[in-house]
Amino acid sequence: RKMGVKPGLESSQDSVLDECPSQYQVLVLGSTGVGKSAIISQFTTSEFLGASDVHTDSEENKTSVSVILNQEESVLELFEENNVSTLNDNSDFQADAYMLVYSCADRSSFRSACATLRRLKEEAGGSKTVMIVANKVDLVRKRLVTSDDGKNFANSYNCKYIETSAALNHNIDELLAGVLSQIRLKQYGPCP
Ligand code: GDP
Repeated sequence: RKMGVKPGLESSQDSVLDECPSQYQVLVLGSTGVGKSAIISQFTTSEFLGASDVHTDSEENKTSVSVILNQEESVLELFEENNVSTLNDNSDFQADAYMLVYSCADRSSFRSACATLRRLKEEAGGSKTVMIVANKVDLVRKRLVTSDDGKNFANSYNCKYIETSAALNHNIDELLAGVLSQIRLKQYGPCP
């Protein structure tokens, strides 16, 4: 499944694009309405987009996005899941990374994200790559979950934390690049 080259072995953009890009599976989790679809659709307009087409398979609820980061192309297959309770049913599905999304304007979506992360970490013994995504930060006056709430939550599980607004396309590229970096880091270790 993973046929890519090790980062650092290729130096020019041309030679990289001849290679078959590595493919990673990312599960985008969060309560209904937190902005998962909006985030994924913003990914498809990213400045990191690679040569391969963006591909959406609505039956599978999957969007494939080709990303070029540090001159290496990878394909991220993004799967969207609304409900945390479906995790166990999918126990044979091993995602390479998780984006755990909540809305800053919805406390219950934050509580639900906390419960999901606990389960993810319990199931995988802490080894999974999880990015905590606080979306809708544009809703400043409706904000109910503070940055500190989010950061403390992420820190306590050793996860990365990012604040986004899909509506304003704020930090969306950083999220995409951040998740891919985390996946590569886990696979290959830090760049020399
Ligand atoms: P999903 O159920 O998690 O996939 O959520 P959607 O992507 O369908 O978004 C739910 C609603 O929130 C829609 O009306 C979006 O337009 C809105 N929305 C998504 N992201 C943002 C954001 O960053 N800011 C604001 N203000 N609204 C957003």
